[in-house]
Amino acid sequence: PGETHETDAVIIGAGPVGLFAVFELGLLGVRAHLIDILDKPGGQCVELYPEKPILDIPAIPVVTGAELTERLLQQIDPFEPVFHLNEMADSLERTDDGKWRISTDLGTTIVAPVVVIAAGGGSFTPKKPPIPGIEAFEGKSVFYAVRQREMFRERTIVIAGGGDSALDWTLNLQPIARKLTLVHRREEFRAAPDSVEKMKALAEAGAIDFHVAQITGLEGKDGVLSAVRVQSAGRGEYAISCENLLAFYGLTMKLGPIAEFGIDLAENRIAVDTEKFETSTPGIFCIGDMAHYPGKLKLILSGFHEAALMAHGAFHYVFPGRKLKFQHTTSAKDLQRKVVGS
Ligand code: FAD
Repeated sequence: PGETHETDAVIIGAGPVGLFAVFELGLLGVRAHLIDILDKPGGQCVELYPEKPILDIPAIPVVTGAELTERLLQQIDPFEPVFHLNEMADSLERTDDGKWRISTDLGTTIVAPVVVIAAGGGSFTPKKPPIPGIEAFEGKSVFYAVRQREMFRERTIVIAGGGDSALDWTLNLQPIARKLTLVHRREEFRAAPDSVEKMKALAEAGAIDFHVAQITGLEGKDGVLSAVRVQSAGRGEYAISCENLLAFYGLTMKLGPIAEFGIDLAENRIAVDTEKFETSTPGIFCIGDMAHYPGKLKLILSGFHEAALMAHGAFHYVFPGRKLKFQHTTSAKDLQRKVVGS
């Protein structure tokens, strides 16, 4: 984070459609960087339904969200895409020489002649716990995501939530935290059974504390947390001292900073043509769930098709004046070399 890069195309969103866009661009010799606020590629497929079977991917009768993502990553690997994960693309400006400069909230800037918005339903944004006065502590001692694990070394931490993120971070931070307490409002979890087992084993061994309780308030001042107040059925209200609260209450999708990019929107999505999937702004394309055009279906296979046409449009911004010959991967030797090497 914080570096400046130059490339051919910046893809905002590493969901299935952003990933496949790397392939279609790569076939035409266009290199790509991807930005995603999630800590892993896969978008809705990995965040919302990693284990559910998808039945309508052409020629793959059954594939889970996680497996589809794995296969896409394997397919685009020859093109060496550069990922900027855990970062929000939050501003877009024109450079003096007519390219685009995308900046992230962590200060990374990427300059390229082409921007591909593959932002799906919007950026995944944490749901805030309904705790009065929590805003004063946000970004100082209360966090909704872990961006740098080392920040929590030797800290006294309360983790709140009962899903995979809460459980994964409990297991991940336990070895480096001074003391870690997991607080969840009930005994049952919505997380991988294996993680729940591991967490329970740690609690039994005394390596972490686990409280079934509801967080009702925070103690501390000037953004520095000293304790969380909780309410439990058996013990009533009490305080758990801590320096940090990590609350994982799930994610929602919001259009976010893209709304401020100055691109024409339609019904909270981005209006595109159906020839190149270009937006109202030349050089900026939009594909996948975020794209709006007559008859749009929010299906992965539609996004894949849009990626192919987008790539043919994007080519001309990256290689002005160069002719683009339409070719099949089965017969074009130069395409084959790009995918499988010489
Ligand atoms: P997404 O998967 O939404 O990915 C977009 C990514 O962009 C996200 O990771 C987001 O964090 C990131 N992003 C957005 N804005 C920013 C920003 N400013 N900065 C950084 N990152 C940003 N489709 C099918 O075809 N078949 C099915 O069977 C099917 N089943 C589904 C089941 C469920 C429960 C759901 C919710 C959806 C299903 N879908 C299915 C729909 C499918 O998941 C979507 O069509 C697909 O995920 C769209 O892909 P995408 O790449 O356009 O966007």
